[in-house]
Amino acid sequence: MKKNTGRYAPSPSGVMHVGNISSSLLAWLDCKSLEGSLIFRIEDLDRDRCKSEYARKIADDLQWLGIPWDEGWSEDRPEYAQSSRTMLYDEAFCFLQRKNLVYPCYCSRSRRLSAASAPHPGEQTSDNSCRCRYLSLTERSALENAGKRPAWKLKVPDKVISFNDLHYGKISENLSDGGDFIIRRSDGLYAYQLAVSVDDMTMGITRVVRGRDLLNSTPKQIWLISELGGTPPEYCHAPLLVSEDRRKMSKRYGDLSMEALRERLEPEEIVGRLAGILGITESSSPITAEELVERFSWDKIPEDDIIFKDSEWL
Ligand code: GLU
Repeated sequence: MKKNTGRYAPSPSGVMHVGNISSSLLAWLDCKSLEGSLIFRIEDLDRDRCKSEYARKIADDLQWLGIPWDEGWSEDRPEYAQSSRTMLYDEAFCFLQRKNLVYPCYCSRSRRLSAASAPHPGEQTSDNSCRCRYLSLTERSALENAGKRPAWKLKVPDKVISFNDLHYGKISENLSDGGDFIIRRSDGLYAYQLAVSVDDMTMGITRVVRGRDLLNSTPKQIWLISELGGTPPEYCHAPLLVSEDRRKMSKRYGDLSMEALRERLEPEEIVGRLAGILGITESSSPITAEELVERFSWDKIPEDDIIFKDSEWL
């Protein structure tokens, strides 16, 4: 049987916050409870927002928390960062072009969609009013001659993708409901959906554990990996930690960061408190991630998002 391979795939656009720690802990526990191995991949496509200084911090924090990976990014192993994997994305892009699945999109809205990072909840990822898929060659040349640089979109079929999420159960979605999506921006940067699919496929990932805010992206990635000739991994989405006003914890809002936590708490205290709010243990007393492995089961984890009360941690 194929060995289970999971992954951490953080974007180094800031230091980790408590929501990232919770998803990382779950990815680690899922992998270790199956005696699998874990890859640490840096998702730094968005060069304006990502910094290697943050990648180093994230790596250090994961080690400090006692949830290390088995193989992956370090300053000496840049091939585990998306910024070093452009050749693989070029190959996939050409392959999809040869399959006649790619077309240029000249809409100014497409240029504005960031696409390089994983979509945030409620973020628009495509533009349903776009008609660029149906432009003739002459119309395209006219736009090119007028100096327009296109983004590149994938022609999405009218096809229902169903998969069994290991936590949320059967999910079905017609790809055409989400519309054609960008796989390369007009500035040449590859988009999150293409890069993540190519990486999961080429790294031999068998299980993806991540926050449920990426559930919507999963049918796209399953379809894309299949079009590229790969076998999609299994997916297991986790509830999000949300603040009392139901905002997703995020680097953008400066929620409880790893830096603040490290000043006050030991790794076992952080892991213990998270294990308590995730429902893995009944008390929130200090515990190592290693000790949690045998108590871990997805049945214990709620499906609803978990309200995180800052006041109980500070
Ligand atoms: N890099 C993404 C993030 O930090 C995660 C992408 C994924 O797990 O597919 O939000």
